[in-house]
Amino acid sequence: MTKLISLRGTSECRACGSQELESVLDLGVQPLPSEYGHSANDVLDVFPLHMRICKCCGLGQLGEYVLPERIFHHAYPYLSSASSTWVEHARKYAVDMKNLLGLDSQSLVIELASNDGYLLSAFQKLGITVLGIEPADNVASIARAADVPTLTEFFGALTAEKILSIHGHPRLIVANNVFAHIPDMHDFMKGISILADSKTIITIENPSFAVLLQETLFDTIYHEHYSYLTAHSVRVVAQAHGLELVHVDQLSTHGGSNRYWLSSSKTIDDTVNATLETEKRAGLFDCHEWEAFATRSRRSIEGLREWFLERKQNGDTVVGYGAAHKGNTFLNAVGEASKTLAYVVDASKEKQGRFLPGSQVPVLAPEQLASGQPSDVLILPWNIAPEIAERIKQLTPNARIWVAQPMMRQIF
Ligand SMILES: [Zn+2]
Repeated sequence: MTKLISLRGTSECRACGSQELESVLDLGVQPLPSEYGHSANDVLDVFPLHMRICKCCGLGQLGEYVLPERIFHHAYPYLSSASSTWVEHARKYAVDMKNLLGLDSQSLVIELASNDGYLLSAFQKLGITVLGIEPADNVASIARAADVPTLTEFFGALTAEKILSIHGHPRLIVANNVFAHIPDMHDFMKGISILADSKTIITIENPSFAVLLQETLFDTIYHEHYSYLTAHSVRVVAQAHGLELVHVDQLSTHGGSNRYWLSSSKTIDDTVNATLETEKRAGLFDCHEWEAFATRSRRSIEGLREWFLERKQNGDTVVGYGAAHKGNTFLNAVGEASKTLAYVVDASKEKQGRFLPGSQVPVLAPEQLASGQPSDVLILPWNIAPEIAERIKQLTPNARIWVAQPMMRQIF
């Protein structure tokens, strides 16, 4: 029996404190997506994966069964720099922010959850001073080796006080794809408000919850994502700490993300109300919309299960590309039939030789595709499918290439 650590996410909204949480999708119990096995027979700890939404601020959330220390401290084998799509996104963001805010060598940019430093190094190349905060020590040391100053810390109010006393107020605070990973969003936002002065801009990028609903991206639900942000919930948490949501950009990353801009002094522009309205129109506060989402998710899971069974009957050699978290949620929801995958290839050396958590499919190097010549390749990280499809075509030109989201389809 797994123990609940906090009521947040099960009976109390993590953002606004409301107790009006509604069950949306229960994906059963699954292992942590970052705990790769050492053998095909490993028995892993499993935890409930059950998403609820808050009827007041729309925040999607999972119950807290696992401490972030277990999820993020060690062996977090995801490196942002491994994806050329991400590196280009970071480069463009750095150039845009330098121009918009007039950043120079005197300006400090702080990134929370700075990963291997790929984004901050883009700022460094423009001559701007940077500081990264990254809790995973193995990932932080990669950043430091690349000369990106990085503190190995979990961020919150206490850490913020320490940083402020040494470095002063930053001009820009970046929090990309991290808010979802924070159980105590209020302590995190309090830390941001401590670091920020009236000139500080904070940008927070996170996949859009409206897109998750509309595109049925149930496979982006996994334990590392405690929360699924809405503009409504970001505004509530920001306001509780003297900050205001002043602008929202819509981005194409992760299938559709929002970049929320916070400030204590800037005027709120039209994009904020437009986004709040879009969220209501998209059905984020409508239980019937979420019921339909759950039905579509189950159909999608069934679609992949049937596809596996068909391939098996035909005697096809089916392999996967990309040992991504979203793939693990999907494969574990499909269950036993996922073992039809002979192996999954991934460019990350840290994952090669290991086994996907739950489905226990072996992870091999991408070059295996050239010698193995599979009949079918399923791309698991659909958000970078075009980039991956090109690599697959080079390695195994005759294979059929598939994506399972939002429905099973052959893309080459
Ligand atoms: Zn709420």
